[in-house]
Amino acid sequence: MTTQYKCHKCGLKYELDTPAFRCECGGLFDLEKPEFEFSRDHIIQEEWSLFRYIEALPFEQGSKVWKEISMGEGVTPILPLDPGMADVWVKLDYAMPTLSFKDRGAVVLIAKAKELGSKKVIQDSSGNAGTSIAAYASRAGIECEIFVPEATSVKKIKQISAYGAKVHIVNGSREDTAEAALRAAEKGDAFYASHVYNPFFYEGTKTFAYEIYEQLKGAIPDSVFLPLGNGTLVLGCYYGFRELHHLNLIKKMPRIIAVQAETCAPIYEAFIRGEQSIKEVVNTGTLAEGIAIANPLRGKQVLEAIQATAGEIIIAPEKQILDAKKALAGKGFYVETTTAATFAGFYSVYKSENRESFGKVLIPLCGAGLKNEE
Ligand SMILES: *Cc1c(COP(=O)(O)O)cnc(C)c1O
Ligand SMILES: [Zn+2]
Repeated sequence: MTTQYKCHKCGLKYELDTPAFRCECGGLFDLEKPEFEFSRDHIIQEEWSLFRYIEALPFEQGSKVWKEISMGEGVTPILPLDPGMADVWVKLDYAMPTLSFKDRGAVVLIAKAKELGSKKVIQDSSGNAGTSIAAYASRAGIECEIFVPEATSVKKIKQISAYGAKVHIVNGSREDTAEAALRAAEKGDAFYASHVYNPFFYEGTKTFAYEIYEQLKGAIPDSVFLPLGNGTLVLGCYYGFRELHHLNLIKKMPRIIAVQAETCAPIYEAFIRGEQSIKEVVNTGTLAEGIAIANPLRGKQVLEAIQATAGEIIIAPEKQILDAKKALAGKGFYVETTTAATFAGFYSVYKSENRESFGKVLIPLCGAGLKNEE
């Protein structure tokens, strides 16, 4: 069996070289992969990027295309949030070539696009996914067009352009932007390198879990607090830990505690109401722009993943985001405002009376502070 796309909704399978980027039924693709062997012995010790886990990634045996494209992404430090807090750890995922964790997904997705012979990719993003895809496409020698909403920070647009990508600024919302990119993708002359649609992105973000496993020598945290917009890190983290569990390398799954923006929280709202279907919301404005996704296309899948870990979804109190940003800077971490929102959510539930219920906690620092204007 070789790796194929498989519709999440109806189960129909597609070869990887299909021009389709979703199923004819409208469902999104997951990956159907052959079983693989993996243990600590399979880690490539001399490879200082996330490709040290190449044996767990869906590339053909002996595939070398990633070697030309990798920029040493991944392998990010894990350390205590505060030297005095033995139970709360951070992972510095902003320490990446384009300054956000999206490089994990982008490098794998672009390596795959290159392997499949793509000459051009298009993508839509509110910022960081666009900068990552643009950077790796540039390195791979693939033409790139990125669609962004008009509200995207000027710095991110400049960064995307700097890599040589063509930027389309869409007059309208994040959803209008996705619609515009979709229409361009349907024309069919480019690979739709969407971090939401294309499941190879999640193969990259899953290395977040593999690194935790390797760096903490199997002593994985009890809870991970993750930002939740479209859920590319939540799903990747879930897939990674699920594989490690399936391989008997870890004894249990950590609980995923996902954090949504107070004013744009469609998955949180379904979770609280005890529903399994996600209803689109109206984003009424938040400082946490990176997680403000009103209509997350994989929302149901993300909700199921969180529930499968006995996890929960919480809200980042809008009024506490800037305080959290300041508190983090006070510990030496200058992060993007969206990352501060994860901590605002964390601080709002991590109280002295219930600390033990979270056990050992790990929280990623997903974006660098220099990404924001303010
Ligand atoms: C993309 C992004 C998020 C949210 O990730 P999703 O995949 O949309 O859940 C959070 N923080 C930063 C810095 C990001 O770039
Ligand atoms: Zn289908």
